[in-house]
Order: sequence, then C-alpha cells, then structure tokens
Amino acid sequence: MSSARVPWLHVIAGCMSSGKTAEVVRLLTRAEIAGRRVLLLTPATDTRVAPGEIVSRTGTRFPSVVVRDSRGVLDEVTTRDPDVVGIEEAQFFDADLVGALESLVAAPRTAIVSGLDLDFAGRPFGVVPELLARADEVTKLTAICVKCGGEGTRTQRLRDGRPARANDPLIVIGGMGDDTYEARCRACHEVPEA
Ligand code: ZN
Repeated sequence: MSSARVPWLHVIAGCMSSGKTAEVVRLLTRAEIAGRRVLLLTPATDTRVAPGEIVSRTGTRFPSVVVRDSRGVLDEVTTRDPDVVGIEEAQFFDADLVGALESLVAAPRTAIVSGLDLDFAGRPFGVVPELLARADEVTKLTAICVKCGGEGTRTQRLRDGRPARANDPLIVIGGMGDDTYEARCRACHEVPEA
C-alpha cells in the first residue's frame, strides 16, 4: 500500500444534525484501512466530546484528542505526526486555524475539517467560510427539517422553546439554560428581529 502523503484540504460543512461527524469518521476509517496514520482533534468548547473519543448524534464513536486552539492543533500534529488530520467543530476555533491548516496541509498532509457553515441566525460562522474557499474539496451536507421534512440547511436556535433573536449571545451548545438547536429548512428557519 502506498504511504505517500497527499496535500488535500477537505471541508465538510452543513447545519446541525446533517451528519458531519459521521462523515468525518467514515473518511478517517477509510484512511486507516488504507494504512494511513489518523488523528482526530476536537475543540475544548465542544461538550459532546467524552474524554478520548468523539460521539456523533447517531452514536458513531472515534478516538479523539481535545485541543484548546489552533496552536494546540499544530502541537498535536507535530507530536503525533499523522498522515491524515480530522478536525471537528471548526467554527469554534480562532482565526489562526486557517494558517495552521495551510501549513499542515503543505507538509504535506490531508486535513478533513467539519463545521457549521452558518450560525443560528444564518450568518457565516467563524473561520468556516474561509476554509470553504480554500478547500480542495467541499462536502455540504443537509439535514431533515424538523418542521416540514424538507431539506434542512439552517440551524434553528430555541430559547425556552421560542426562536432566538439574532442578537442573542452566541455559543451555548452543550450548556446554559434551556437553549436547544434543531435543523430547519430556509422557509421554516425563524430569526425574530431584535
Ligand atoms: Zn421546513
């Protein structure tokens, strides 16, 4: 089997519940079967991560390492020297993730990065839009809209069961109050004016 490293940035974007984690795990599993050394990294802000593994909403599990920021990404990659690097929840990383990915892909390595392309108000989310532009390959996944069963491309945020306003404070996934998130289509996505 060839062990040549391929410089390739694959970004997997989509709304909540679109199967991004399951797709990352599928691709990393394929890479392992091909004899590649694989490393999956998740940001400390992602509270769905149990120590040492990622668990998708569909129950898929894969060993993972938690990093604090883009510096942590480079540190882990330097230490563990993988052929293929997976990164989850890219929207939670600092802006330097772009440069970190460019350098590790140039090494060369393959990076498979997933994240929310839009925040709950339908705005481009963090570094993900720039990563989509720089990617060699883009996969955009859709979910099922929980309201109408159509193509879900938006993440609906609910506070106490009501649609959150655009200016409500952002990142709350996994903690705090009664905020919940669900997949919706464009027509069913609601963001009340402030
Ligand atoms: Zn809908």
